[in-house]
Amino acid sequence: MAIEPREAYRALTRQSRELATLASCSAVLGWDEQTYMPAGGAEHRGTQMAMLAGLQHERATDPRIGELLAIVEGSPLVHDPDSFEAADIREWRRGYDRRTRLPRSLVEDMARTTSMAQSEWVAARTASDFDRFRPWLERIIRLKRDEASCLAVSGSGDSSYDPLLDDYEPGARSDDLTELFRALREELTPLVASITEAAARRGSDEAILNRSYPRDRQRIFGEAVAAAVGFDFHRGRLDVTAHPFCSGIGPGDCRITTRFDEHEFSEAFFGILHEVGHGLYEQGLDASRYGTPTGEAVSLGVHESQSRLWENLVGRSRAFWSYWLPMARRIFHEALSDVTLDRFHAAVNRVEPSLIRVRADEATYNLHIIVRFELERALLAGDLDAADVPTAWNEKYREFLGVEPKNDAEGCLQDIHWSAGLIGYFPTYTLGNVYAAQLFSAAGSQLGDLDTAFAQGDFVGLLGWLREKIHHQGQRYRAADLIRRVTGSPPDHRPLLDNLRRKYTELNNL
Ligand code: ZN
Repeated sequence: MAIEPREAYRALTRQSRELATLASCSAVLGWDEQTYMPAGGAEHRGTQMAMLAGLQHERATDPRIGELLAIVEGSPLVHDPDSFEAADIREWRRGYDRRTRLPRSLVEDMARTTSMAQSEWVAARTASDFDRFRPWLERIIRLKRDEASCLAVSGSGDSSYDPLLDDYEPGARSDDLTELFRALREELTPLVASITEAAARRGSDEAILNRSYPRDRQRIFGEAVAAAVGFDFHRGRLDVTAHPFCSGIGPGDCRITTRFDEHEFSEAFFGILHEVGHGLYEQGLDASRYGTPTGEAVSLGVHESQSRLWENLVGRSRAFWSYWLPMARRIFHEALSDVTLDRFHAAVNRVEPSLIRVRADEATYNLHIIVRFELERALLAGDLDAADVPTAWNEKYREFLGVEPKNDAEGCLQDIHWSAGLIGYFPTYTLGNVYAAQLFSAAGSQLGDLDTAFAQGDFVGLLGWLREKIHHQGQRYRAADLIRRVTGSPPDHRPLLDNLRRKYTELNNL
């Protein structure tokens, strides 16, 4: 018996909620694994996770979804493409097609290969021996090519890379990113060189941040700042893990993590602010649409824009520290009693070309990403052999950053992503920085003087703006479209460069 489009839409919503609820069970188990699970629980946890993954896959590829989609597509529900219903239907279709186009054998092969490749990567990195990892990278590239060809929609874009990118940044095209990143790099490389030169002339204050900062006090200060910018600890919590992350488990439950080092203030503090930015996005999603695309984050790039905005554009601003430094001085009296606002602001904004992405500063970070984006695109296209990755990597580091790794551990083996099959993921970090600068500049012109608000400890205006413009929209628009609607401009590298120039001119009198 035929059912009405409205009814089909409701059935799809129920399905989608159940799937999200199942995924959230995996998320709790994943969080627990990283935080409190005893080592002995690993094997049973693996069984639990595999069972949940199997259940999710079964439900997500149920042919009934295809039948229901056929009823709602072409119905009046999709007449207004800007409606939440039309967006849900568009994204359900995208997800369903992606899942059903991949043969089960390929999915299983990928899971097996990447699971082994990750432990081989750990061993290869420890030994700093790329050759040990090379056969695994070759297998992963082959599997990823197969994946891309199963998912490719004929006649559009780079068929070997775009379908992979689409998993993290739906609708993005690598040709557009190549253009955006080229324009960014052309100006960023000389800008970094002049900032570094000026900083060398001025002398460095970074040692301030390596004084003694007791861990328990770092936690108190970090939580105070997190709560003040709007992270709701009634609906979230902060724990300690080896690798910081944010997990939005569901309405009312968002977990963030960090790690503390007594002689390294920045890592935990800016790590917390970064994850808080992700957490504010999760806490700001429309709970009434939970489990449907319009109640979920739109893309990794936009997610990262939220974390970078709070970490870098708010958290490294002079106005922010003019409010927080007095409290930091009271909490870290021994470390900071003799430190002025100018010195502290300069210390948290130090720029230095370096080899390791996760330790890179705000200005050089994107150059690390562009190296990876260019290499993985060339690998997929067959323009670069896995065996030539170390040489190509080192050449690009010399060219973009003026530094060269002494070995593979501090070169092409430093990131887990490729071993985990995460190809097409790296560019979303730089998209995040680009979007963050665009959003911050739009917020500034729409809300007025943000610095005055920050200097008074007032972050409510900015958060409210982000809630309305970004968080509540969910996946209503694709990322690039959302950015254009909110800022009036498509993805654009210039606000990022303008921000950096303004800050470092002030700091260095360039
Ligand atoms: Zn992040």
